[in-house]
Amino acid sequence: MNTKDRNKVFIDRDYLWSLIDRKAPNQNEINDILNKALKLKGLNLEEVATLLNVEDKQQIQQIMDVAHKVKEEIYGKRLVLFAPIYTGNVCCNNCTYCSFRKDNHLIKRKILSMEEIEAETSALLKQGHKRVLLICGENNKNGTEYMCEAIRRTYSVRENNGRDYIRRINVELAPMEVEDFRMLHQEKIGTYVCFQETYDSELYKRFHPAGTPKADYAYRLTVMDRAQEGGINDVGIGALFGLGDYRFEVLGLMQHAKHLEDCYGCGPHTVSIPRLEPAIGAPDAENVPMPVKDEDFKKLVAIIRIALPYTGMILSTRENATMRNELINYGISQISAGSKTNPGAYSEDEKGTGSQFELGDNREMEDVINSFIDEGYIPSFCTGCYRKGRVGEDFMDLAKPGLIKQYCLPNAIFTFEEYLKDFASEQTQIKGRQLIKDMLAEYDQKQLISKIEENLNNIDNGQRDIYF
Ligand code: SAM
Ligand code: SF4
Repeated sequence: MNTKDRNKVFIDRDYLWSLIDRKAPNQNEINDILNKALKLKGLNLEEVATLLNVEDKQQIQQIMDVAHKVKEEIYGKRLVLFAPIYTGNVCCNNCTYCSFRKDNHLIKRKILSMEEIEAETSALLKQGHKRVLLICGENNKNGTEYMCEAIRRTYSVRENNGRDYIRRINVELAPMEVEDFRMLHQEKIGTYVCFQETYDSELYKRFHPAGTPKADYAYRLTVMDRAQEGGINDVGIGALFGLGDYRFEVLGLMQHAKHLEDCYGCGPHTVSIPRLEPAIGAPDAENVPMPVKDEDFKKLVAIIRIALPYTGMILSTRENATMRNELINYGISQISAGSKTNPGAYSEDEKGTGSQFELGDNREMEDVINSFIDEGYIPSFCTGCYRKGRVGEDFMDLAKPGLIKQYCLPNAIFTFEEYLKDFASEQTQIKGRQLIKDMLAEYDQKQLISKIEENLNNIDNGQRDIYF
């Protein structure tokens, strides 16, 4: 694809709709697709559409079983944890599903000062977080320069005599120009995240009123192309489930991923799958236009996992604990924990600002960690790939032959051991160390075991931030 074509709308709306509501596939068709999925080669658009049209419970279970195998094969039993920092809830848009929309007068507004951002960072560091997502409404007071400064200040915060600091910042910001991306790139962000909300251009108009910057469907759709041009090759896409037909949105995500792969040799680093949650003063969140049933939601997670096997999949605290614990088995690889969606909420002094939506999971970080340990998953705060430059195309080259396992599990174990030593209660430490022991007993890269044990000893003796 040449440069000119890159900025064209690449979602073929009519074609995607034509793939939906076809008759359910027969068992042989399903078996063929799932056998291909087991080879970890991903699926094409038509195969994804075929699986989305499956309604039979047993066949859906078959898809989920394959997703489980793919997830275990590529990611092993580990789960990356992060928390969002909302830097502001002032917004110039009027998205009908979001409490931050400008016409909503029911919430208190706030844009955090740099000192307040540092206070939020400190509060998260004290819980043991190492990875954060900076996020906010769209407003010229918190434009690119503000965000660049916010990134610098977040990275600069130190706790416990310099021992604890944020090791990776991802950002979720409204679409911007190439020049803005160049500035962001200078600040060493991890992933740039932006959700298309709905990939259906007609439906998009309904939720994003004319006259607001966000009303421009094509500008939002091509944001990752501008990010790439500005030097950011680590990008995360997503759709907001509940606005339109979930099958269309999954196909939109697939076409977006393919576009990025075709143009830049590398698909998205992550896919997010937020479901609409109730939100004060947001009519389409109070009355969800096309709610996605739990069963369909699980199915779509499984299908995305096998269709894009090497793409991280993110689940937020919008979902409740039961759903989160279940979905880690079928595809989710990154999860937020202990989140708050109102600016200033982690530090003591700012409880009254408006949050973006209601959370399904309000547990503290240690409770979330405990429940993952119970499920046999190592909570990871690893930032190794990003800091070793294994990102974008390089990350995919590494991930595709399965090398990801060699680095990721040990790195996850190192960061988990740090967490246990520095932040966990005695009971969590006992459970966590047993899990590490069990994992190492099963680990198939035996040549690395002595090096891993040496590093665990080093952590015990006070060394920090060790990674392969
Ligand atoms: N304001 C920027 C934008 O819209 O691109 C940054 C992200 S916005 C703060 C974060 C995301 O929250 C939106 O892209 C949307 O998908 C999601 N969101 C908005 N309202 C929501 C709701 N009621 N329930 C769940 N997610 C919601
Ligand atoms: Fe603003 Fe983003 Fe909320 Fe829309 S989704 S109102 S752009 S914060």
